[in-house]
Amino acid sequence: MWTVTSYVLRQKLAGRKQYPLVLMLEPLFRCNLACAGCGKIQYPAHILKKDLTPEECFRAIDECGAPMVSIPGGEPLMHPQIGEIVAGLVARKKYIYLCTNALLLKEKINLFKPSKYLTFSVHLDGQREEHDLAVCREGGYDIAVDAIKEALSRGFRVTTNTTLFDGADPKSVRAFFDDMMELGVEGMMLSPGYSYDKAPDQKHFLGRARTRRMFRAILSNRKKNWRFNLSPLFLEFLMGKRTYPCTPWGMPTYNIFGWQKPCYLLQDGYAETFNELLATTNWSNYGTESGNPACANCMVHSGYEASAVNATFSSLGGFLATVKATLFSSYRDEEALRLLEEHQAPVNPLIQIATADDSLQETRA
Ligand code: SF4
Repeated sequence: MWTVTSYVLRQKLAGRKQYPLVLMLEPLFRCNLACAGCGKIQYPAHILKKDLTPEECFRAIDECGAPMVSIPGGEPLMHPQIGEIVAGLVARKKYIYLCTNALLLKEKINLFKPSKYLTFSVHLDGQREEHDLAVCREGGYDIAVDAIKEALSRGFRVTTNTTLFDGADPKSVRAFFDDMMELGVEGMMLSPGYSYDKAPDQKHFLGRARTRRMFRAILSNRKKNWRFNLSPLFLEFLMGKRTYPCTPWGMPTYNIFGWQKPCYLLQDGYAETFNELLATTNWSNYGTESGNPACANCMVHSGYEASAVNATFSSLGGFLATVKATLFSSYRDEEALRLLEEHQAPVNPLIQIATADDSLQETRA
């Protein structure tokens, strides 16, 4: 927290309006899962075979200077030089979130050394049944939990990252939080899914109004022992208590094509350098307020968490709201308790392929 705080304050003092907080470094697109809600693995085979070299990864982080690096993909543990990439980032004192489905974690764990800079961010989309359906792989949950136990026993930092789609049962998600705290993970990360037009399952993406309703049910009346690895103001944003504009430059994406315009989710071209990305992207075309239909329903972490962090440091009010949210808020909410009791449609397997004319755009509210 101190690293992020001092970094953001330095940016503010320097008068920088657009600064990166987390580099989203995608060293490959290959994966050993084919999740129905994922839009990252639909590339042709010759693209899926490509990897960023360690040098390309180091150049990207040196160029943008973000204090944190998230390594998604694809599945980063399938990268043949992932140990070298992580070691190079640790040497640069970057805080790394290695996002993995953990299927290979036990097998590859000896490639890594425990460090305060390295966290395994294990993809788990809920309790056993929900996770296995979301990743279209029976047994995936048990393998991941087993790998988490192994990593924790070896002294690694471990968090979880969870993407929630329409039909998620808030009660089950809350029970999942209990399970993860009992397991001993350091914190939990949450995001609504983004409606990738390339994802096989097009029926279960959330609109903004439903996203807020779902997160209000999940995150109100919070248990004291739940620890989230997210800005508290971003959680309030998900619950509908705050609105923020998107700050896509806050979590820029670098992959085998270069710097992706404008964000982790959309591909409106590429830039060769980070400065070129900042200078040549027409940022006013993005975010919910822009009217861009691709952004209409988006509330994802990679677009809006940097906005929440920026809000913390932009005014005394933002800072005090963060302190209050961190130390004092349990978000008591009777209506949210009632929402928890609402009938939940059974979770359907995420393997139904939508017809082309199914509409995803629920609301820009
Ligand atoms: S609103 Fe979402 S899709 Fe649009 S630029 Fe921001 S993060 Fe990307």
